[in-house]
Amino acid sequence: MLRARDYADADRIVTLLTRDFGKLSGIAKGAKASRRRFERKLEPFTHAILYFRRRPNGHLVFITRAERIDEAPPEFDDLGKIALGSYMLELTDALTTEEAEAVDAYEVLANGLAVLARNPTSQALRHAFELKILQAAGFGLDFGCCRSCRKLAEGDTGFVYFVPSRGGIVCAGCRAQAAESAVRMLAANAAALALLSQTPLADSPKLPHGGADSSTATARFLATILDRKLRSVDFLNSML
Ligand SMILES: [Zn+2]
Repeated sequence: MLRARDYADADRIVTLLTRDFGKLSGIAKGAKASRRRFERKLEPFTHAILYFRRRPNGHLVFITRAERIDEAPPEFDDLGKIALGSYMLELTDALTTEEAEAVDAYEVLANGLAVLARNPTSQALRHAFELKILQAAGFGLDFGCCRSCRKLAEGDTGFVYFVPSRGGIVCAGCRAQAAESAVRMLAANAAALALLSQTPLADSPKLPHGGADSSTATARFLATILDRKLRSVDFLNSML
């Protein structure tokens, strides 16, 4: 479930990311009244099996029932988890469109929320999730080596420069070819991002995170591809 709002007296309009049908918006008639069919199954962070039918002339599908997948749903019992979980949902929502296949994004989101439920909130999980959901949306960012000369980003090599239009970094030596808008970051932080992007999400909380300049680099990249600022990002930054 990506987002929901109440509609009329008893209904809810929900937007969900599904494995088989991509992103869908639907109306759950009587969701506020019918506790048996819907209660707490169409809330943020829930993972459910959805029963719906398409309406002949409508954009919204008609949701008839929802069944919870996880017996014990993820409990986001502190503000940090709520902040990161909300950011995961909003970022996924922003990077997917309805009527488009989104299996990879579905897997990354489901996995990200499951890992968050089992681990404390961390910058490493945030950075790993950002890289993987961007990759699922077709924006694989390369922090491992210079886009020009392929020199590896390593901890002892000072600074590298993230260039959003090139989807990766350039080294100090190739800096002259980079656009003015490049984000300077510690090479060690770029190397940390490169490692996070190659590691399963479940293992990311143990790894070093990419530091504050990594968050800046990702935010700069997102600003070039999204038409709006994510509402959840300020709350997340205040928590991490
Ligand atoms: Zn270079």
